[in-house]
Amino acid sequence: MKTIIANWKMNPPAMNEADELVGFLAAQKKKDPFKSGLIFCPPFLYLAELIKKYGTEVFGAQNCFWEEKGAFTGEVSPLMVKNMGAEYVILGHSERRKYFEEGDEMVNKKLKAALRSGLKAVVCVGEQTRLGVSEAQYLKVIEDQVRGSLAGISQAEFKNIIVAYEPVWAIGTGVPDSPPESLKSISHIRRVIGAMLEDNSFGEGVGVLYGGSVNGANADGFLKEPGISGALVGGASLKKDEFLGIIRTADKY
Ligand code: PEP
Repeated sequence: MKTIIANWKMNPPAMNEADELVGFLAAQKKKDPFKSGLIFCPPFLYLAELIKKYGTEVFGAQNCFWEEKGAFTGEVSPLMVKNMGAEYVILGHSERRKYFEEGDEMVNKKLKAALRSGLKAVVCVGEQTRLGVSEAQYLKVIEDQVRGSLAGISQAEFKNIIVAYEPVWAIGTGVPDSPPESLKSISHIRRVIGAMLEDNSFGEGVGVLYGGSVNGANADGFLKEPGISGALVGGASLKKDEFLGIIRTADKY
């Protein structure tokens, strides 16, 4: 079973549009149930209302803080997200890394806090560029992110973690990685996780998604790969018909 995650980022601008998007997919699912797992990650502001209205759907936040409560003005804690009824949180997205200077150490703190609060986490990693760097060099960048973001995580905790391989140069650019190239990075992520846990085959069982300009036209190429556990979809997850097409494509595999 594939997992498809809708990362709406800071969209749409109004609640009624968010409601329409979830409502459309919930109705499609009712008519003809999805085989894939679908996780909606709307902005914080819409989460409570959407969870209340669409109790059969699975929701996640796009970020959270590393403390449960306290004097952290403007922040949202993982416990708040969990208590609101969300199941997941995306951590270490490249836009968080870029605009809010989140590094692997911070992602790791957030991850541990999220797991303590009972959330499942989607941890994003991916190289900035492949221009002027060798394959070994960019795989090392990914490896360092995996080792840093997932440091100190046990095999049992990995059951509640999905990794999203998102090459930064492919996010929001309309230029996806190729399925075979993305598989090289994803296989490396699995190898690194196996090495971290001193159990080489362990990485094979970890969910690793591809993200970066996935759309209705290219989704099949990624989703048909048994080594790719699903897709994290940004822009195309806001276009209801196209996103439905991606889910139905995932349902084939
Ligand atoms: C993302 O937001 O993680 C993402 C992959 O965006 P897009 O699909 O728009 O490239």
